[in-house]
Amino acid sequence: MARALVTGITGQTGSYLAELLVARGWQVHGLVRAGDELPDSLIGAGDGPVVEHIGDLVDAPRLDEILRDVAPDAVFHLGGLTSVAESWERPVDFALTTAMPTATLLAASAALQEARGERVAFVHASSAEIFGVPQTSPQTESTPIAPVSPYGAAKAYGHMLVRAYRRSGLTASNCILYNHESPRRPTTFVTRKITRGVARIARGLESKIVLGNLDARRDWGWAPDYAEAILRASTVADDLVIATGVEHSVRDFVTAAFRAVGIDDGLAFVEQDERFMRPSDAPELLGDARRAHELLGWSPSVTFDELVRRMVEADLAVIDGEMAES
Ligand code: GDP
Repeated sequence: MARALVTGITGQTGSYLAELLVARGWQVHGLVRAGDELPDSLIGAGDGPVVEHIGDLVDAPRLDEILRDVAPDAVFHLGGLTSVAESWERPVDFALTTAMPTATLLAASAALQEARGERVAFVHASSAEIFGVPQTSPQTESTPIAPVSPYGAAKAYGHMLVRAYRRSGLTASNCILYNHESPRRPTTFVTRKITRGVARIARGLESKIVLGNLDARRDWGWAPDYAEAILRASTVADDLVIATGVEHSVRDFVTAAFRAVGIDDGLAFVEQDERFMRPSDAPELLGDARRAHELLGWSPSVTFDELVRRMVEADLAVIDGEMAES
């Protein structure tokens, strides 16, 4: 049975990936920070399908120890702080949790491969944010790396280090993930903030949504599709853009989300506030995932409208559940 070590397993994409790995017969080990909880889907009766290892990404000796104990066939490194906006408030924390652990895990994976003489695959959840404000659209694996936020810079460090370890013989891949969303997305991200706001407005609990830059354009995909790409990336050693190739503005997202509850003039419920504007924000991020399609046979399965509809419906269900309880 192949063994996987997943960091970020309590997060959106890590939890989808763990479910996928379990379904495909992998033995799954997850790094879980003390106080964090696995989603119900990963907690079975008695022994759950996932072996939990309590540890913190910033604790390098502990990470090293876990990796040696688990001796995984593949490391899927998705953990770290992920909010671009927050990275401006806590840049040092982003260096410590988003950049540094990639070095610890790569070094430990290379040492494991050396010690046991068998291939160790490493997949890093890199990010479109490494491209900063790209000069070309859509972006590919050869677009210049030029981050414009502390988060992007932290991811770019890990991205470059993956390349260095690949050169030195590790089966290491970067999945350059474009925005990927689902009902498990925290409300610190604009998509979930909007779908939750729309659901609350539809149920009469709120009257407006306060947002920042409505003109920003993003390539939004369905997170479980991205988990599938990350799993497949463990079979190659490459850099791969994972994206839908379709972009929409934040304004489009708002409109589509309100349409999902039968409201046509959704923008009338939106207020803009400087507080949610960023010091620098890529006006547009759009990915070309042809390489992932060619090498991994991967393509996205969920359209923008369907993604928005699923997220709004999930938020309506949460609110209806809460209202039924009270
Ligand atoms: P990111 O692309 O990884 O930073 O994902 P986000 O969902 O946080 O942001 C996507 C885009 O939405 C960015 O261009 C933000 O500037 C824009 N945006 C506009 N209003 C908001 C808001 O209220 N919250 C967040 N998080 N983003 C917003």
